[in-house]
Amino acid sequence: MINVTKCFLPPMEEYIELLKTSWDKAWITNNGPLAQELEKQLAAHLGAKHVLFCSNGTIVLQMILKAYGITGEVITTPFSYVATTNVLLWENCKPIFVDIEPDSFCMDATKIEAAITEKTEAILATHVFGYPCPIEQIEAIGKKHNLKIIYDGAHGFDAFYKNKQLLTCGDVSTCSFHATKLFHTVEGGCIVTDNDELAAKLKLYRSFGHVGDDYFDMGINGKNSEFHAAMGICNLRHVPAIKESRKQISELYDYYLKGLPLQRPVAVATTIYNYAYYPIVFPTEQLLLKTTKALLKEEICPRRYFYPSLNQLPFLKDSQPCPVSEDISSRVLCLPLYHDLAPAAVQKICSIVKAEIDNAEINSIPSLIL
Ligand SMILES: *Cc1c(COP(=O)(O)O)cnc(C)c1O
Repeated sequence: MINVTKCFLPPMEEYIELLKTSWDKAWITNNGPLAQELEKQLAAHLGAKHVLFCSNGTIVLQMILKAYGITGEVITTPFSYVATTNVLLWENCKPIFVDIEPDSFCMDATKIEAAITEKTEAILATHVFGYPCPIEQIEAIGKKHNLKIIYDGAHGFDAFYKNKQLLTCGDVSTCSFHATKLFHTVEGGCIVTDNDELAAKLKLYRSFGHVGDDYFDMGINGKNSEFHAAMGICNLRHVPAIKESRKQISELYDYYLKGLPLQRPVAVATTIYNYAYYPIVFPTEQLLLKTTKALLKEEICPRRYFYPSLNQLPFLKDSQPCPVSEDISSRVLCLPLYHDLAPAAVQKICSIVKAEIDNAEINSIPSLIL
């Protein structure tokens, strides 16, 4: 079976080598030497002052909302993984959805100001699929209206924007190190910031808000373990190779899908993409469903990232219409993409996609892009 993604695993000996050090010390969690080492390496890799290694890419967003004391309306994107909205609801904030750009699939900065009220406290934007959201515009709006800006960079690891790591753009970004992500620690996530005060607060929050017998603030358990850190240290060594193979596979997809009426996200200029995902947008949802069925028959499992549009989640009390996101969500499919996906598999996937498109009534398909 070919899944939409497959986790990278380092050579087992590399991992065991590191684990031995934990065994020897019998120190397996609570900010141990491997977690500290991983943070140091990540800070150097990203070019960031502070990287806080945490238990996942969801709790880090919750910790930041708490640290900023955000309790009101938060402007956010309807096109992201459900965690981006859930953290707001979980922290009793009110998500206000602003529609996305039809090119980058990221939040449309030109629509943000119309959504700002006296209750707006923050903007939570996602660099969706690893494509940078309109950072300068969002930063300018944040400054003008005195809003906190948080970037959900779960997909943004090792993408570059204007010659710096995307995750270092803005005051604070998060990342997810879940097993399905480009760089992973099995489960895990991080906070990236250059702000000393914020980092100190978040460090406290991460371990229950106390240091020894000194209790400073309400905290939570956002720590991660030495075993997870060891996986991160191993995997970080392989990131260049992982990215290179994903790049080659993505280019192979580009080659085989060339000329088909499929839309692909477009990165803003000066982006160096990380090849985190390979989304394609079909001319119609019907064609997406038919193609998915044909792929599944061959034991190829693509994923509807991201569907439904988050403003249409069934448990929202109220919401805002986002026609662009609703439209893209209904037609977007992520094709399998991982480090050792065979070129023959890519060719097969593309031939199935092409056959389904050729079978469809071509005349009903709007002329298109790729
Ligand atoms: C994966 C993901 C998260 C959550 O990360 P976890 O580590 O799984 O908790 C948050 N936001 C986005 C956009 C994601 O894709």
